[in-house]
Amino acid sequence: MNDSPSTRRFAVVGNPVKHSRSPAIHEAFGRQTGIPLRYGLLESPLDGFARSVDGFFAEGGWGLNVTVPFKEEAHALCGTGLSERARLAGAVNTLWMQDGGLRGCNTDGVGLLADIARQGIDVAGKRVLLIGAGGAAKGVLFPLLEAGCARLRIVNRSAGRAQGLKDHLDAQLAEHAGKVSAGALDRAEGEWDIVINATSSSLAGEAPAIAGARYAPGALAYDMMYGPHPTPFLVQARAAGAGHVADGLGMLVEQAAEAFFIWNGVRPDAGPVLAHLRSRMQGR
Ligand code: NDP
Repeated sequence: MNDSPSTRRFAVVGNPVKHSRSPAIHEAFGRQTGIPLRYGLLESPLDGFARSVDGFFAEGGWGLNVTVPFKEEAHALCGTGLSERARLAGAVNTLWMQDGGLRGCNTDGVGLLADIARQGIDVAGKRVLLIGAGGAAKGVLFPLLEAGCARLRIVNRSAGRAQGLKDHLDAQLAEHAGKVSAGALDRAEGEWDIVINATSSSLAGEAPAIAGARYAPGALAYDMMYGPHPTPFLVQARAAGAGHVADGLGMLVEQAAEAFFIWNGVRPDAGPVLAHLRSRMQGR
């Protein structure tokens, strides 16, 4: 395809990357806002991430999203060009060039909070159980605390990794330290207003084996995974009494909207793009 000189070029870089929905989302945002763009897939060799990024920007690329397994490498590559969110998360999912230097941000937390707000739920004052301690969990910890949650408990299959996240938080944001605790999956005891599954357990067709957690009346269960059917975690949560359940498709679209805003200075409306994606995913 021949681009006009005003066409901005974007891509998502990862390995693997071919199932990404980012091109469809960003191209829809482009049509919605009237910004001419092309958004591609960039599969990088596992040992060649920096080269892939350099090559993309050297050829005039405007912005890159970063996905598995490169978010931490992208963080390292940005040096002093990190936003506060990216610095605190230790991971980058949005890259661009500014004043000759590589800049990086992490929009996952903003995406999650925007999608929780769409469910009509305010995180302020809520007791939050976060399941998982990988990159996705790390990206949403600080935004959840900054949104004013009352308590945040991190549980993970490898308890040491959950503790590692708590230690990282305590070191970075001492003022929130009293609110945060960590443990193994079977130490999820307590009553929770919001329970977030940030593990990839659904890939194995299972819900994370949490124990001791109770859903408060009207509580939200949120799975970062998404698909045409309720995930195993959401099925488990309904049976355990969660009042609301939501999957991560809205987070995906909202984190993309934030990246689009960073790159283009225009905020797209995520709602219609989410609705379209949802109906396509469900084959309607
Ligand atoms: P990582 O590989 O960094 O971490 C995986 C996490 O899942 C770890 O905490 C791991 O525990 C845990 N885990 C894996 N399998 C199981 C299992 N069977 N039972 C319990 N815990 C398990 O992945 P990410 O953090 O990057 O991603 C996690 C999920 O979030 C993915 O499914 C991803 O698709 C989704 N995601 C969605 C986004 C969205 O916009 N909707 C954005 C980002 C991520 P352990 O440490 O013990 O190995």
